[in-house]
Amino acid sequence: MGCSQDAEQMWSQSCFITRLVSSTVRISETAGSLIKRIMSEGDLKVVNKATDGMADLQTEADRSAQYCIEKSLLAKFGDKLKVIGEEDVTSVVPNLEMDVCLDVLQQDSKCSEELRSIKAEDVVVWVDPLDGTSEFAQAAKSASPLLQQVTVLIGIAYKGRSIAGVVHQPYYGNGQGRTMWAIVGVGTFGIPIIGESAKKVVVTTRSHSTPMVTEALDILAKQGLADSVERVGGAGYKVIKCLEGAAAYVFASPGCKKWDTAAPEALITASGGRLTDISGRPLYYGTDAQITNTGGVLATPHWVKHEDYVNTIPAHVKNALPEFVSKN
Ligand code: AMP
Ligand code: MG
Ligand code: MG
Repeated sequence: MGCSQDAEQMWSQSCFITRLVSSTVRISETAGSLIKRIMSEGDLKVVNKATDGMADLQTEADRSAQYCIEKSLLAKFGDKLKVIGEEDVTSVVPNLEMDVCLDVLQQDSKCSEELRSIKAEDVVVWVDPLDGTSEFAQAAKSASPLLQQVTVLIGIAYKGRSIAGVVHQPYYGNGQGRTMWAIVGVGTFGIPIIGESAKKVVVTTRSHSTPMVTEALDILAKQGLADSVERVGGAGYKVIKCLEGAAAYVFASPGCKKWDTAAPEALITASGGRLTDISGRPLYYGTDAQITNTGGVLATPHWVKHEDYVNTIPAHVKNALPEFVSKN
């Protein structure tokens, strides 16, 4: 952490949640630098994790970023912290980040008594070290617009609910990147939140579409809830799109995981929006949570009535996406 006395004092006076988020901001940025370095070196060392004949890709960037995030969090906060990550910690790149973001500590006084009472052993940290791997692997060089869709996602859950999160977008802008963070009840920071748009843009998957995904979107279009559909990669990027004016993120399919939704859910919730499954049920992020969001994903920003989308999704689609199918 910065050596100034002010910084030391702010850290010592801050509660655990603001400390955790302030570290996580810097850790996500270091993970983003690793991702960019591996892409620029040109050898992604892609493996396919899927066991069902489909594509579920992992690259050296996913592995290195996971290592950096998980090892840094545990080094800073001790192993009482429960971390659930998409990737195993197999990389050997010894790249830890111990710095903190003072902007987060500056918001500490806005935390409620309940937030202030949270301790390391009370939370679960959900880590997707690289969201949008399909798009990342497809982007042959750093200039590809698909790289905008890559994010680092670190979400923090308490009592099974997503209460804070960090979304880092390493290629944002001309590659300088940006980091968005939120604590529910405190606010969403690092992104200008766009209000109501006359045209309802709905965002959905680019690389995991199914006939049911398309059917749900067609029904929303017929009911006037989707003037246009944009297919973009990553759960993180789709929620960014919702904060920037899209009306909804609709994914009527299983496959998206808890580490995909935890951090984005905090960002959209802290700004007055909602993220649930396709039937409007809240997502559960406890240590015993089912990893897969079997009920699909539906996110809407603050200016959209979430229930309008929930109510328009037909019963047979909802029935095909039950809350629990199996553990994992
Ligand atoms: P997408 O909207 O397709 O970019 O997916 C958002 C997140 O959910 C990414 O991390 C994907 O890897 C994950 N995901 C969605 N559907 C599937 C699937 N059928 N198999 C594996 N991962 C999926
Ligand atoms: Mg992901
Ligand atoms: Mg990932």
